[in-house]
Amino acid sequence: MRGNVQQNAPIIYWVRRDLRLSDNPALRAAAEQGRPVLPVFIRDAAVDRLGAAPKWRLGLGLEQFDQALQGVGSRLTFRSGAALETLHALIKESGADAVFWAREYDPKSVQRDSDIKGKLKDLGINASSFGGKLLHEPWSVETKTGGYYKVYTPFWNAVKNRDIPAPLPGVVKLQAPANFPPSENLSGWSLGSGMQRGAAVVRPYVRLGEEAAQTRLADFCQSDIASYNRLRDVPAVLGTSGLSENLAVGEISPYQCWHAGLRALQDGKEGAETFLKEIVWREFAYHLMHHTPHILDQNWKPGWDRFPWNKDEQNPAVLAWKQGRTGMPFVDAAMRQLIVEGWMHNRTRMVVASFLVKDLHLEWQLGERFFAEHLTDYDPASNAHGWQWTAGTGTDASPYYRVFNPIEQGRRFDENGDYIRKYVPELVHLSASEIHEPWLFLDGYSHGYPERIVDHAVERIESLERLKEIKADKPEQPIQK
Ligand code: FAD
Repeated sequence: MRGNVQQNAPIIYWVRRDLRLSDNPALRAAAEQGRPVLPVFIRDAAVDRLGAAPKWRLGLGLEQFDQALQGVGSRLTFRSGAALETLHALIKESGADAVFWAREYDPKSVQRDSDIKGKLKDLGINASSFGGKLLHEPWSVETKTGGYYKVYTPFWNAVKNRDIPAPLPGVVKLQAPANFPPSENLSGWSLGSGMQRGAAVVRPYVRLGEEAAQTRLADFCQSDIASYNRLRDVPAVLGTSGLSENLAVGEISPYQCWHAGLRALQDGKEGAETFLKEIVWREFAYHLMHHTPHILDQNWKPGWDRFPWNKDEQNPAVLAWKQGRTGMPFVDAAMRQLIVEGWMHNRTRMVVASFLVKDLHLEWQLGERFFAEHLTDYDPASNAHGWQWTAGTGTDASPYYRVFNPIEQGRRFDENGDYIRKYVPELVHLSASEIHEPWLFLDGYSHGYPERIVDHAVERIESLERLKEIKADKPEQPIQK
């Protein structure tokens, strides 16, 4: 379109999942050119593909980010359509000669972005992608033999001492273009406030925007991080950072989390190292999604394709799992937390996932899709990785086949039953010693709690029996596609 940079041609800053002014390399690079910047959000197929909760959360995040941009003299232009065509139209309308964005790593986004980059460059447009979403580009971490990591601990050892540059300061002023091009109305989209159903229930549980995320990180590093290693597994206690929803839409950066965690570690806060390790679990999930993208929807270890799963997704047991009515108190509390809050504690994510796969013998993909529909912190890499890890089809390095016992997990991590009582009112009358097995007590069902749909002891044996059918094939190694 044009070869040389024009003095005052705007730069399009294509906003995706990086809803923040600080530590945002793409936005900062655009701002530093000393030219007008045109922030744009495109509702394309990648957005339409999202489940209801992440769509809603993204929409609310965009409303906040639009306000934040207005605070620095700019605003968001909203458009819907295929990304390349929409960018073309905006380039034409605004006279822009550059498009900057932050990299995404799921295979569909990678394909879309590389296609767009090539086509824009052919037109003489400076199309540049930037980091900011991850601490380590997934291809930058290699084993000694040049491969990728398949197990978390060696991955952690490989990155734990790497220097992470300090986060970039926030953008305080953006030069506005002479005219902002026409924008669609975000509130008219089925996104954020435009979505009515269910939103009022989940709304009190989300903390929106960059400022809230920074406050959350600072508060966490001030207090809860000290006991994080001890309390992060107790779902009745709000002992974790709660930053996953902010990380999912980029309202905070992993650099900011890493450096805050490091400072807490230097201050002698005991749990800080565990927090840093969790941030690196997220990195590991992205590393695997980059190197083995089939992790998103196929068994990471392909031998599991031959496992005799139950195929009937219409089975009433599946509905009971989704509604938190399995009769297994710790599982039901967790599923109800998900429905009410759009979030579930990490410990219980593993317990409900194990229950679906190893007690009901259903494929992990069913649960992965349900989470993708209901989690406000939905993240493609972490969700698929978490499901595959728990199912046994993924990267769990345990030498034995791990089957979570939902009753023992409840006793261990919800000793007093407080988590169960919070979400399962039918069981509030039971004591700590009764609440995990209501079927053993006369008044266990007196307040309408459903009877258990399966006996864990029986289904554990059934799961191990089914495992024998594929074990001979040793389905250990992942395929690389
Ligand atoms: P904290 O304990 O405060 O941890 C800090 C951050 O570290 C988190 O925000 C997250 O970014 C990262 N982190 C922590 N644990 C993990 C982990 N196991 N894997 C990857 N990153 C981690 N996380 C998501 O962000 N989105 C998902 O869609 C998602 N789906 C999951 C599904 C299953 C079946 C399982 C077992 C885990 C899933 N996780 C997912 C990981 C984890 O449960 C959440 O990141 C965590 O519960 C978020 O709460 P928090 O922000 O308070 O975490």
